[in-house]
Amino acid sequence: VEIARNTEALEYQANTDPLTHLANRHLLTDRLEQTLVYARRAHRVAGVLMLDLDRFKNVNDSLGHRQGDQLLRAVADRLRECVRAGDTVARLGGDEFVVVLSDMADVADIVPVAQKILGALAEPMEIGRQLLSVNTSLGIAVYPRDGETADTLLQYADTAMYRAKADGGNAMAFFTPEMMRALTERLQLEAGLRRAIELGELRVHFQPIIDAGSGRVVSAEALVRWQDPERGLVSPLEFIPIAEETGLIVPLGDWVLREACTQARAWQDLGLGSISVAVNLSVRQFAAPTLDESVARALEASGCPASLLHLEITESSIMDQIEQAMTTMYRLIALGLHLTIDDFGTGYSSLSQLKRLPVTTLKIDRGFVRDIQHDVEDDVFVDAILTLARKLGLRTVAEGVETEEQLGFLASRGCDAYQGFLFSRPLAAEAMPRFLRERNT
Ligand code: C2E
Ligand code: MG
Ligand code: MG
Repeated sequence: VEIARNTEALEYQANTDPLTHLANRHLLTDRLEQTLVYARRAHRVAGVLMLDLDRFKNVNDSLGHRQGDQLLRAVADRLRECVRAGDTVARLGGDEFVVVLSDMADVADIVPVAQKILGALAEPMEIGRQLLSVNTSLGIAVYPRDGETADTLLQYADTAMYRAKADGGNAMAFFTPEMMRALTERLQLEAGLRRAIELGELRVHFQPIIDAGSGRVVSAEALVRWQDPERGLVSPLEFIPIAEETGLIVPLGDWVLREACTQARAWQDLGLGSISVAVNLSVRQFAAPTLDESVARALEASGCPASLLHLEITESSIMDQIEQAMTTMYRLIALGLHLTIDDFGTGYSSLSQLKRLPVTTLKIDRGFVRDIQHDVEDDVFVDAILTLARKLGLRTVAEGVETEEQLGFLASRGCDAYQGFLFSRPLAAEAMPRFLRERNT
């Protein structure tokens, strides 16, 4: 009896999520596979529902982990109440849950259950002394319509869940062939990017940054370009996020850094003056523990003076992890380089946080500059950012300057430097010396 009980306890542990006592990933896969075997034999339909609580992180951060755990347990209880005996409810970790609806007659039968789940979770729950209700994003994949294996169905339900979330949350979405195409396209893009990095098909272009006082080019932003033989020119807005998710950003970013430093040094050697280069850092690069080593290596290998390197970090990647970000930033400036906050105004920096950051430049987001032309008189945002920067002793660069009106407004408010199509589009490295010569002499 003792042995039997021990075996049972061990099995329970191996199959159960300790927090909610729901099935864990291991048991879920088992059950889902059984469900599919049965459905195939009996010509039945099965639904895989992937759930993610909207803004759970906020709850966890503001109420604390204990209340967060309590909320997850309450969610688990509600989910159990929504399904039948043969169905499976699992927690994959964090705030991700999966429900397997087995033995359904038709796809249409899944909808009322999904609605019931969304409704049940939206009902207020008593957590500590508070009443909380959660919004949920729910993605659905259906056997046999969408896929035949457990892995595929889980992946498709996950894809659909992201769609529901992107649609604003508190919603459900079925997996569609169109999502499948997007998924395939993504995988192809990823494979293409890997190859491009290996074969050296990427290029770095440079966009001049003009000093307001002298009208000279003082700096240039390095912007990566991918000329794909099949797809043509692919925008970094499209492939940087993929590089970021797959980790390809690390070798890619290192390479951009080396290229940029090499160019800055080359311009100096050509007698074109000390033109600094601004290099964008993605979230993952900024979080990598080896960042300062990579930067130091790029500087050393190129012979580019550290003072000519500016690293652009977005406001949100700093503010999400402010303490860690501060440590990284201090390690970077110790190398002698400068830091810029990119896309400033789109995040939520508080004034007190901003004051502590070891940055030299604020780059005003293109969105604010774009809006200037409409009401020239009272563009409060740009005005406020410029005033703020001046008070904090920071240099300002406006990006996306396209018109004389915008330039006039920025100049009248004391912006320090401009970047935008009005002056130049990003240029191939080979075209830079000529531009620098024409503009700076
Ligand atoms: P960003 O850092 O804010 O770069 C400025 C973007 O604005 C560039 O887009 C530039 O071509 C564009 N731009 C400049 N002036 C104008 C203008 O007057 N009008 C308009 N409409 N656009 C202008 P691009 O090159 O497509 O890059 C987009 C984003 O991709 C960058 O935004 C940056 O976040 C990211 N990115 C580019 N290169 C790299 C890279 O090497 N590493 C990383 N991590 N991100 C990169
Ligand atoms: Mg930038
Ligand atoms: Mg920007």
